[in-house]
Amino acid sequence: MIDKYNRNIDYMRMSITDLCNLRCKYCMPEGMRVQKLPMAEILTFEELIEVAKAAVECGITKFKITGGEPLARKGCPGFIKMLKEISGVQQVTMTTNGVALEENLPMLVDAGLDAINISLDTLKADVFSEITGRNCQEEVIRGIETAIESGIKVKLNTVLQRGVNDGEWNDIILFANKHNIDVRFIEIMPIGYGRGMEVVSNDFLRRELQKKYPDLKDDMSIHGNGPARYVKIPGSDCSIGFISAIHGKFCGDCNRIRLTATGKLKPCLCYGDTVDVKKIVRDNCGTDEISSYKRQKRLVGVIQEAILSKPKEHCFEKITDITEMKKMVEIGG
Ligand code: SAM
Ligand code: SF4
Repeated sequence: MIDKYNRNIDYMRMSITDLCNLRCKYCMPEGMRVQKLPMAEILTFEELIEVAKAAVECGITKFKITGGEPLARKGCPGFIKMLKEISGVQQVTMTTNGVALEENLPMLVDAGLDAINISLDTLKADVFSEITGRNCQEEVIRGIETAIESGIKVKLNTVLQRGVNDGEWNDIILFANKHNIDVRFIEIMPIGYGRGMEVVSNDFLRRELQKKYPDLKDDMSIHGNGPARYVKIPGSDCSIGFISAIHGKFCGDCNRIRLTATGKLKPCLCYGDTVDVKKIVRDNCGTDEISSYKRQKRLVGVIQEAILSKPKEHCFEKITDITEMKKMVEIGG
């Protein structure tokens, strides 16, 4: 569906849980947990499927499953299978911290998952523990390697923090090159615990990269559904992406809408405005065909409303104007 600013909105980031097995400093640091929501607050898989079917009617064809940590919710691969079976769904991908990936991979492959983004901020076990509050870097590396072996398309997501892992960008690029996969560097966004954290600018990183690899070239090929800009080191098959919410506004190309695990549609990451779908999917007006048809039409209506209320752009550069007060773990990135 085309929004007010002539953007084609065909991609939904769907959070299926607000829980996570890690405690990343910029997302849900140790000891700062927002209160655990009762399960009844979270949409069931059947309810999420109802929303997805209505979203497809509004022109959404691609879904990214996120969390918290999506694999922390039991039944995630089965849900992905249900989503893939909806007529009109062209692509289902997932973003994960990779901790529980190895054991879930056979089921994810069976479900038909199209691609996986795996978060990897460091190759050092002690730095991993410092960033995530947990000691499970080996599991993540095994998850990445098993995913690559399975043939699913894999990308890495890396957030650099000054004085923590900002010296590791080249090691991570070499790791990605060795495994023949792309890596994207994401600037810390001023959402939740990211607010007030120092941003390692992707402009700075791009300049450092150019110094190290003088033949670096822009890579204009299409890499997925995201806002990343890519470069390539000549001779390498892998691309390096930059997601630069702060130093490179990409709102003119925005193609997305978000759904939180509690059933709130978010037109833009930066603002707290939401449109509630839970009250509609839970409206017990009946289970017969006519009632579910009516419910579906109401869902289509609110999804269209959310798409049409997408603002022109975010305001991350002016922190006082940001109205989103939820933590990133509650939104899903
Ligand atoms: N748990 C999964 C994971 O870590 O990939 C999915 C959810 S996580 C919120 C999605 C992505 O958001 C991760 O790549 C994470 O690094 C990123 N992220 C979390 N908080 C962020 C922030 N404040 N700024 C930028 N990226 C952030
Ligand atoms: Fe969990 Fe992902 Fe947030 Fe880290 S970034 S705390 S893995 S949801």
